[in-house]
Amino acid sequence: MKKILRNCVFVVLAIALLPVSVLAQSRRDKEQTYVLENPYAVTKITPPQGKKIKNVILMIGDGMSLMHVYSAWTANRGKLFLDNCQTVGLSKTYCANKLITDSGAGGTALATGHKTNYHAVGVDTEGRPLKSLVDFAAAKGKSTGIAVTCRLWDATPADFCCHNSDRDAEAEIVTDYVNCNADYVFGGGAKLFENREDGRDLFKELRDKGFQTPRSWDDLATIKSGKVFAVPYPEDTPLPAERGDLLARASLKGIELLNQNKNGFFMMIEGSQLDDYGHFNDLDLLMQETHDFDRTIGAIYKWAAEDGETLVVVTADHETGGLTLVDGDLQEGKIVCKFSTGGHSGVMVPVYAFGPGAEEFTGIYENTAVCDKIKKLLGL
Ligand SMILES: [Zn+2]
Repeated sequence: MKKILRNCVFVVLAIALLPVSVLAQSRRDKEQTYVLENPYAVTKITPPQGKKIKNVILMIGDGMSLMHVYSAWTANRGKLFLDNCQTVGLSKTYCANKLITDSGAGGTALATGHKTNYHAVGVDTEGRPLKSLVDFAAAKGKSTGIAVTCRLWDATPADFCCHNSDRDAEAEIVTDYVNCNADYVFGGGAKLFENREDGRDLFKELRDKGFQTPRSWDDLATIKSGKVFAVPYPEDTPLPAERGDLLARASLKGIELLNQNKNGFFMMIEGSQLDDYGHFNDLDLLMQETHDFDRTIGAIYKWAAEDGETLVVVTADHETGGLTLVDGDLQEGKIVCKFSTGGHSGVMVPVYAFGPGAEEFTGIYENTAVCDKIKKLLGL
């Protein structure tokens, strides 16, 4: 009986996954045209002149390569907030046991400074838990936070807070958030925090640990201090066209709370779904996400420029989709692109730095060096 049930689950899963993979397959290697009808204004943001580094904000565009950035730049008529950065470096993304990494190992390298195995989150190649920038910063008395647009069991946020050799152990992974050192968490994925098969109510456990657990943006917006674990959606946040500037708002709310600590803070912000739409080979949604991430970068740069003691590092964990820009028109904001894969590809990804310490990020280095440099600059 159990076997029949399991076979049924496989069949249902296969049918559920079919449209996405078939759709991506049908789009593969075919030209797709995208025109940004309403380009957004980009202002010049002057980086602060001081040298003191109190806070670091690490922004990860999941699956974002130079090709994504250049395509988004072309579609927005030759301007991006990202262009305000001061220095650029290149990061090598391969993981411990595969040339082409996934978000689990790629994000673990950025979060912990260790290369690990494909599909691992927050553990070394032996499966032992690794400390992340969230843990290092908390140990130094800094506040820490995370804001993402995906479900919280997804690899990138999990790399900073959770520990598992298998990123697919989703229900197990989210239980680690109860013991995570982050003071502010914003993301999707409420369905695995409550009504769980093991009977645990993770929101209640978090409240017992002193967290406020708002379940909507409106509730989150009213909070003025204290620890927050905000999960407004059962899975991912809605599409960019529906959610508006939610990632920027949720990030700035986190900064408002974390910045009340006189010792400063570390925060990770992810443009999570660039990766999903790279996998789907969907140029339209991919550009919407990339532009949303760029506008979020603009909001963070503006805050950091005023603050004067905050370093902002923008990078990616790997490339997704094998995106190639083959034609377009800068004046019309038109891009013509192809995807070469429904998976990830092997290419160095850019590291953009803005603010005090930016000069440390020039050059070519391992993805683990992003973590090492942040630790050094913050004295962690
Ligand atoms: Zn990724």
